[in-house]
Amino acid sequence: MTPPVRPISQWVEEEITLPPHGTHKNKPFRHSRHPVSRIWFDAIDSGRWWRYAVVAPTQCGKTLMCYVLPVLYHLFELNETVIIGLPDMRMANDKWVRDFLPVIESSRYSGLLPKGGEGARRGKITSAIAFRNGATLRFMSSGGGDKARAGFPGCRVVAITETDGMDEPGIKSREGDPCQQIENRLRSYLERLRRTYMECTASIPQGKIWVEYTSGSKSCIVRPCPYCDEWVTPEREHLKGWQDAKDVFEAEAKSAWHCPKCEVAWTQEDREYGWKYARLVHDGQEITVDEELIGDDPRTHTLGFRWGAIDNPFTTAGACGAEEWRARESKDKENAEKDICQATNAQPYVGDMQNEISLEPHQVADRVVSYKRGIVPPKCVGIAIGIDTHRRDLYWEAKAVLIDGDVCTLHVIDHSRLDLDINKLSKEAIYLGLKELKKQFAVGWMDETGKKWYPTQVWIDSGYKPHQLPVYSFCKQANVGRKIMDCIWRPSKGYGEGQKQGITPYKTPDKQPSTRTRAQTNVVVYVGADYHISLIKSGKTDWSGVQLVHVNSDTWKTNFHGGLTIDAVETGAITLFETTDSDRDQYEAQVCGEVQREKFIKGKGPVLTWHYVSVNHYFDAGYLATGAADFVYHNHKRLSGKSKPRKRAEDYSTRPKAGDVSHYAGRAIAVR
Ligand SMILES: [Zn+2]
Repeated sequence: MTPPVRPISQWVEEEITLPPHGTHKNKPFRHSRHPVSRIWFDAIDSGRWWRYAVVAPTQCGKTLMCYVLPVLYHLFELNETVIIGLPDMRMANDKWVRDFLPVIESSRYSGLLPKGGEGARRGKITSAIAFRNGATLRFMSSGGGDKARAGFPGCRVVAITETDGMDEPGIKSREGDPCQQIENRLRSYLERLRRTYMECTASIPQGKIWVEYTSGSKSCIVRPCPYCDEWVTPEREHLKGWQDAKDVFEAEAKSAWHCPKCEVAWTQEDREYGWKYARLVHDGQEITVDEELIGDDPRTHTLGFRWGAIDNPFTTAGACGAEEWRARESKDKENAEKDICQATNAQPYVGDMQNEISLEPHQVADRVVSYKRGIVPPKCVGIAIGIDTHRRDLYWEAKAVLIDGDVCTLHVIDHSRLDLDINKLSKEAIYLGLKELKKQFAVGWMDETGKKWYPTQVWIDSGYKPHQLPVYSFCKQANVGRKIMDCIWRPSKGYGEGQKQGITPYKTPDKQPSTRTRAQTNVVVYVGADYHISLIKSGKTDWSGVQLVHVNSDTWKTNFHGGLTIDAVETGAITLFETTDSDRDQYEAQVCGEVQREKFIKGKGPVLTWHYVSVNHYFDAGYLATGAADFVYHNHKRLSGKSKPRKRAEDYSTRPKAGDVSHYAGRAIAVR
């Protein structure tokens, strides 16, 4: 008979002996040795969470507790295969030798190590270790080239360390961020059965781990203050005493964490008293002085788990104070500050913002004004929409262009995602998806006087080659009956100095707009601010009625983020409608899915460019809508009246009816 499976909190104490290095070498693992150990393993045992995102200081037991031990539990107590996600397969052997092997060798599971091949004595790890209990530890990178993935039978557990390091430029694809690609390997299991463990020190606010932490339960550890009984979490700003110190010795001696509520300085004994009673609360929850937990359980399956210096048993207030004092006196302040944020306090580093725009999800949330979804504010002159196209879904964002005197501001009136029919070829699915969106947009949005508003300008990303034909075909169909400058639906292509291969920098056209007919190809018909519109040159297909918008994505991404950071009454400022729907969390996170960095471009010197950090669909839709809004702003007088419902009658009269055969990229498809 197989023995019953033990909870992990019990299993670690019964089976794990600490390896022969470190503070408690060769001693049994005990929750009492680490303030968050019991809380963390109980959270796993609760079964409440499907995914775990852990942020903590460096050298504080995070890798052992939140990465190595859960992996070994799945391998040896549950006898199941685990995937280890790595930025680079060349790291596999190091990870094995440094993180896993010493713990296994100190336990009775050393008998399960393979006798030959990978993982055996002197057997170098290249892809996987098959243990003698039948479980396999399989290493995978997000990029191509690891043979381990081919013919992989499926598994339900993945563990990823150094999560933020996964975002190596060049290895990502349009199919999602690198961690997501590895998580996708679990797809043969029901979502509720899958387990993902991610851990990392914080890097920047837009880094994977911080995004996962903040969009997950964003939990924190609280403990009662021995002086006021309030449940609190002292952070970096509550460390006081070092500020007035004359030297590092004084800084060390004088530093103490102060209670965030009553501000009394805590001794080490007070800190340890807190550890005894520490509890976990999730975002929006708190514990009252009567020890009652109040607030709703967060609507997420991801446990965002973080602890800072106060709960790192390997440091003291004195050591942290000395580090702060040294950083202040340091010549390289930026690096010292980075270290204090990330390594000591488990907080992302918000860099020098002199040139770079830095936007965090909570700042996006701060742009909300009191209009509900779909309500157009006063002073509107038109609606600009951006659509990001994907194999499985279309993401879109709609902005009202508001002109008040000399000031033009933008208000996001709606954003959403349309799932595509995955049973269809992606080209057909995208075409039909865009038709569906057109139908949805034709319902219109209302202002407070009851007037209906319809799309004035819609830019659809067609830069990804396989998506080009369906977008062109759709635009051709959707613009039927309109003159060139009156077209509403336009494919767009981004150009930038980004890190993506195959994307070239934007070039302002040499020639001024031409009024010549469509017999000429690639004729520029409109030049805007870092975007222009041209007719399309293509082999045999007649693309009359379709004009491509060439967009400088660097400029319009910057304008989009800039609009979300400047004062809400300035020209270019962007505000958001008010909602509690869950797509807002996605929107906030994805809008921060790219970050601006200085990059050295050969022949140009340092240039500010945009870098992918995590899923960014709404960011792409939003920057296109921002560019399209500029077009609306400059052309609204001519466009107004032409996007109104009376035009719709004309549109719909030329629309194919069900049963008709529509011309779709040279291929006939039935209209549904
Ligand atoms: Zn207190």
